Amino acid sequence: MGRIHILDENVAARIAAGEVIERPASIVKELVENSIDAGASAVSISIENGGLRRIQVSDNGIGIEKEDIPLTVLKHATSKIEKSKDLEHISSMGFRGEALFSIAAVSMFTLRSRPKGAETGNEVRVTGGKVDYIREAGLPEGTTAIAENLFFNTPARLRFLKSVSAETGAVSDIVSRFILGNPSVSFRYSSNGTVIYHSPGNGRLIDALVSVYGKDIRNNTAYADMTFNGVRVYGYIGKHTFYQKSGRNQSLYINGRYVRSDSIRRAATKAYGERMLKGTYPFYVLFIDMPFNEVDVNVHPNKMQVHFRDQGKVEYVVGEAVARAVEGNEQTQVLDISAAASVSALIDDKGESISSEKQNETGHAAYDLKDDKEKDLSNEEKDIIRELLPREKKTDKPEIEQGSLFADDGFAFAENRKDRDAYAAPVKDREEPVPLSGISSAVYIGTAFNTYPIFEMGEVLYLIDQHAAHERMIYDALMADGRVISQQLLIPEIMTFPHDQMLVIEENMEMLAEMGIDAEPFGNLSIRVTAVPQIVGEINIRAFFEDILEGAGDKRNRVRLIKDRVARAACKRAVKAGWKLSEDEIMNILKEITVSGVIPHCPHGRPLAIAITKTDLEKGFKRIV
Ligand code: ADP
Ligand code: MG
Repeated sequence: MGRIHILDENVAARIAAGEVIERPASIVKELVENSIDAGASAVSISIENGGLRRIQVSDNGIGIEKEDIPLTVLKHATSKIEKSKDLEHISSMGFRGEALFSIAAVSMFTLRSRPKGAETGNEVRVTGGKVDYIREAGLPEGTTAIAENLFFNTPARLRFLKSVSAETGAVSDIVSRFILGNPSVSFRYSSNGTVIYHSPGNGRLIDALVSVYGKDIRNNTAYADMTFNGVRVYGYIGKHTFYQKSGRNQSLYINGRYVRSDSIRRAATKAYGERMLKGTYPFYVLFIDMPFNEVDVNVHPNKMQVHFRDQGKVEYVVGEAVARAVEGNEQTQVLDISAAASVSALIDDKGESISSEKQNETGHAAYDLKDDKEKDLSNEEKDIIRELLPREKKTDKPEIEQGSLFADDGFAFAENRKDRDAYAAPVKDREEPVPLSGISSAVYIGTAFNTYPIFEMGEVLYLIDQHAAHERMIYDALMADGRVISQQLLIPEIMTFPHDQMLVIEENMEMLAEMGIDAEPFGNLSIRVTAVPQIVGEINIRAFFEDILEGAGDKRNRVRLIKDRVARAACKRAVKAGWKLSEDEIMNILKEITVSGVIPHCPHGRPLAIAITKTDLEKGFKRIV
């Protein structure tokens, strides 16, 4: 008998599986990706002993049909890919159909699932790759996967593992990246029965950050957002004062997928310029949304590398987005630090202060086109950037004195001293601090520049940004459950789109209708829009749809993100003139501030209000020091 023999199929499977599933964190990653692919809005993850004893991931996603249950644990069984051609357009997280197979090969694996709308669920149990049983089971809708006694049949792999605490840490790290990358999904993560993370899943990125990093992160970060040539970069960057000792707290998502990229890291770091201390790293949670055919995410499950077709362009947008956020943020610190501190002292003692997160998408940020960046761009592109980012703003700012109250560059500041004094004049002096007991104490002072209603409440003046508040109202109204009231168009609008975009529209007709947008196919490549949400008023429908469809090649957006996208587009496109908030509406904003102690933000991250404390004013007037 020769010495060479073919490996038993099962042994081969175990070896291969060990390559996909290196450690508990890889299992968690695969299972959570499946949950997200299944459209779950809530995912619960629990591990025991670093995941070695037990890993459980439950979701409320679409579930798995009875006849598919045994298939899921077979190699190359997937519902996500049909032709090899699809490989070029991968958008769902997993696609190789080998994750569950691999997990089941190296653990005692249980999969329970009840598809949406099905009467009952089913459970399959696999030990070391061999199916023990499949049976019906009473289950909630959704899917639960449990992997127990990991690597019980591959002791060699077990020896490669680090300590239980290191494995736990690796799982926590993976979970945190999912939380940050999926603000619309509520995650609950526990280790040995202790809840580590619990994210609200309310769609707000800042709240996802708070779930992972704690509430101080609000004060330590600034919002960045910039779109250029089809590439949008947005997210939170750490203030330069919030430097890190390692690059651990840097998260990058390309079209929703967590990746690592040294070049993006360098571009982001470089944007801090001299502000960054040597040997320190910036904090960031950044998203790059771009056309699918311009990026290649390496498909190996454990490598998360990316290649861009136009590396220079992406680095450029990242650099500018970060630089502008860093710069804008420095300008506001003059005011915000004391304002935030004193307001938070007034409002609550939980340490939750007025968020000074800030966004520069208004384009007011000072901006210099750096020569080295300019090199790679065409003249046309340079012109576009110049137009986007007015550079003159830098110089025409008044010196910062009391006027610094209005130095926030998202804010129209008074041009000269006289105006500024007049502006501050109506503030009454009070002997006694009035506690912020409720909004009944709010006094309307007037409206500045026809745009910013001013309220005095206790020891604080609030300037409301009507525009931002209005956007927020539209956003909330469209995101709410239930049907949005629509308004018929006098003349229906007919628009033509490329086929892939048409498919996105067709797939989402029903959701659009629920959001108050009535559209119907009009031939193969056109739609006819007959009604829009009443709350948006008159709207440029073409531009509105273009905003919605921007980057629509992203299949993940097709299924889950589109509602948020539509709502954002509606805010952006709603006619901006003549917005007047009713008193009720303003009171609601004030109420929100007093209840949470945090100034709410518009969907683009701009604050709905600016708070100025009496102490700030007194300091400004040198009544106190
Ligand atoms: P892949 O994700 O690459 O398709 P997997 O082995 O991870 O392969 O999963 C196999 C198939 O099982 C998926 O294509 C999907 O149809 C189904 N599946 C796995 N997990 C879930 C889940 N949590 N909810 C719904 N379906 C799931
Ligand atoms: Mg998968």
